[in-house]
Amino acid sequence: MINYSINKLADIIGGSLQTAVNGDAKPISNISIDSRTIVDPDSCLFFALKGERHDGHRYIEGLYKKGVRNFVVSQLPTQPNQSEHANLIVVKNTLTALQQLAAHVRNEFDFPVLAITGSNGKTIVKEWLFDLLQSQFRIVRSPKSYNSQVGVPLSLWNMNRDADLGIIEAGISKPAEMIKLADLIHPEFGIITTIGDAHQENFKTLEEKLTEKLKLFEGAELLVYRKDSALIDQVINNKFKNEHTKLFSWSTGELKADLLIRIEKSLQKSTLYFSWLEKSYETEIPFTDDASLENVCHCLAFIAAKGWLKERLLSQLSSLQPVAMRLELKQGINDCLLVNDYYNSDINSLEIALQFLNQQTSSSRQQKTVILSDIRQSGFPARQLYAEVSRLLKLNKVNRLIGIGQNIAEHGTVFEMTTEFYPSTLDFVQNWKSHNFKDEAILIKGAREFRFEEIALLLQKKYHQTQLEVNLNSLVENLNIFKEKVKPQTKIMAMVKAFSYGSGTVEIARALEFQKIDYLAVAVADEGIELRQAGIETPIVVMNPEGHSFEAMIEYRLEPNVYSAELFRQFNAVAKSSAVSYYPIHIKIETGMNRLGFSEVNELKHISQQINHEEVLRIQSVFTHLAGSDEAQHDEYTRKQYQQFIEISDIVVSFQKNKVIRHILNSAGIERFPEFQLDMVRLGIGLYGVAATSNTPVRPIARWTSVISQIKTVNVGDTIGYGRKGKADKAMTIAIVPVGYADGFLRHFSNGVGKMWINGTKAPVIGNVCMDMTMIDVSEANAQVGDSVELMGEHIHLTDLAEWAETIPYEILTGISQRVKRVYSQE
Ligand SMILES: *Cc1c(COP(=O)(O)O)cnc(C)c1O
Repeated sequence: MINYSINKLADIIGGSLQTAVNGDAKPISNISIDSRTIVDPDSCLFFALKGERHDGHRYIEGLYKKGVRNFVVSQLPTQPNQSEHANLIVVKNTLTALQQLAAHVRNEFDFPVLAITGSNGKTIVKEWLFDLLQSQFRIVRSPKSYNSQVGVPLSLWNMNRDADLGIIEAGISKPAEMIKLADLIHPEFGIITTIGDAHQENFKTLEEKLTEKLKLFEGAELLVYRKDSALIDQVINNKFKNEHTKLFSWSTGELKADLLIRIEKSLQKSTLYFSWLEKSYETEIPFTDDASLENVCHCLAFIAAKGWLKERLLSQLSSLQPVAMRLELKQGINDCLLVNDYYNSDINSLEIALQFLNQQTSSSRQQKTVILSDIRQSGFPARQLYAEVSRLLKLNKVNRLIGIGQNIAEHGTVFEMTTEFYPSTLDFVQNWKSHNFKDEAILIKGAREFRFEEIALLLQKKYHQTQLEVNLNSLVENLNIFKEKVKPQTKIMAMVKAFSYGSGTVEIARALEFQKIDYLAVAVADEGIELRQAGIETPIVVMNPEGHSFEAMIEYRLEPNVYSAELFRQFNAVAKSSAVSYYPIHIKIETGMNRLGFSEVNELKHISQQINHEEVLRIQSVFTHLAGSDEAQHDEYTRKQYQQFIEISDIVVSFQKNKVIRHILNSAGIERFPEFQLDMVRLGIGLYGVAATSNTPVRPIARWTSVISQIKTVNVGDTIGYGRKGKADKAMTIAIVPVGYADGFLRHFSNGVGKMWINGTKAPVIGNVCMDMTMIDVSEANAQVGDSVELMGEHIHLTDLAEWAETIPYEILTGISQRVKRVYSQE
């Protein structure tokens, strides 16, 4: 583990140290950029990174209270506060400082580093190389997909120095980023995976992007690449023409490649044929999709180029497994919360998983259990390894450890919490008792061979197999895309009404709150109360407040949308009797939607004066809603609405002492009318991945899947389902999927209108959609019971479903029934 004094760190990053603690601070052994993930405050150095909207400096005061004493900042706190007593290293740019520190750490490595870049497959190639080579070498690697300007420095810092090889992935989204990563990583070896169009919006041509990526490998000894694209081949050869970098190419067709691989696919697996150093090889791979096969070939080529190809490696190739890159969050039995991460078990990923567990725990009182397998990590003596595990568990306040495996059990005495040990997963499965798990947060983390998915299955709450996977990373990415469209000072209200357009309430709000969203908006008071009870602190507006809930709203600090004089009178009365003052309300003005809203100017004037005079309520904001912001044909109408809003809201604002926030734009409005941003915008559907224009590259955040429960063959002339609507005009194979119109899979999708994606094909619905089940024609799909089907996601788009149903995406999303379990993931 690294231990640096604060003075040395200031030296390394070239900052000026302002210290108030008298030189007896603890040495620094961990660094952080994320205030949520700090577990060891007094030995942590926090880098206050600054983005366009995110500013790490805002967390300093709170972190100081939690015990963090060391900070890297680019500006000193303006108001006097406690953090003045901290050690502050002041630098020009905190991100540059983080990178400098990582470069320093990297220079101390005495093992070579392999860097992997490319548009796709980086993480998988990295993980597979680790799997393939870990029996020969001690390997350290970057965790998950930590490949950014921030991720790479953090990975370097966390790498154990006792290694034979480091594997780092590097990703860029903009020109000029790679040179910075290259300065950090200085790889001896390189692999460039596929170059596709990810992030192409920031590059003029594919060639420009490739040239940028290749900067990573300047000065490297070896670069492995695929020769099958003439463009890539040419650019690479030109660039390295006069360099000492050895180029090693592989191909499935080009005879001049250094390694020629022939691939034969069958239904379930593929066979690779290749010759190397006069020997012919043949090996089976458990994948048939092109992306996986290409990733395998990159690994194979690198291993061959390094001279590490051994007979044993071939059998390892045939047991490669898909890489799960996300931590999964699931509802467990007896009100438990499960975090599943059972694909690897090394110290770095354990640390990340524990941080995620902490983030998700609802209160500090909730008990935490970790189910952990033997840790497969070379380079550490076992005792030291488990002592480190024990330290991490303690730091993260884990109350109970369930260890599975011989090795961890042997070192059971190093753990200082409650422990149970089982020699194998089977032994646990046979002896566990469900009542031993109650209202706690459980992390399930193990090496792949332990097959902890069996444990997850036991502890998971049993639903039927249809689920909606919500990707919280995509949510944040979408938010950032919209943030870039609005001025930094414009506030954002996120619409989380209607179960966040079907995506779930608390988890979405929590993620948005962490992004420092300014306001949340719900439809009815109950939705707001649920958020408050889950600990959400962000201001919340209730769009359709109802009289019976006014008292509860005040109790839970929910702010009403006041849209009529009658509503004002009622709420004002309840506010008075609750003895509040300056209670924030939001005034809605009618300008052309003809839905809720004040339209009488005089009435509004009167109320504004009364509010100002009484000081019971405060007009926090005033707003209106556009009727046709997404369509050019209504642009004139939209402009008229805006003008009218400005005129009427001027009156309201003029009577108030406080600064009143004005807002008008919804998602499509933000995209199409940047000049109407005012003080705040209201972001809805865009957050969930539907855009009105093509220059808003948001992605849907939800993927709806189910699992085939039965397969049948039917003969010519047979009918399928209610009303005998489905008729087999040939012998066919049909699959029954446990999802129906009660789940929100509309009956409108019957008889071929709708399709589901299965094993690479789009299988049409056959017959009528039933309440809880749907039949699809899988004659072309080679389907089996238990196969996963996609109802909405990457292949069947949300917009497809909306088109089939002749409706809008909003209705599809909000129509997905609450009985479809929501599963959240975060990278
Ligand atoms: C739902 C809603 C929005 C969000 O609209 P999107 O089209 O989803 O962005 C904005 N304002 C009000 C008043 C709403 O009810």
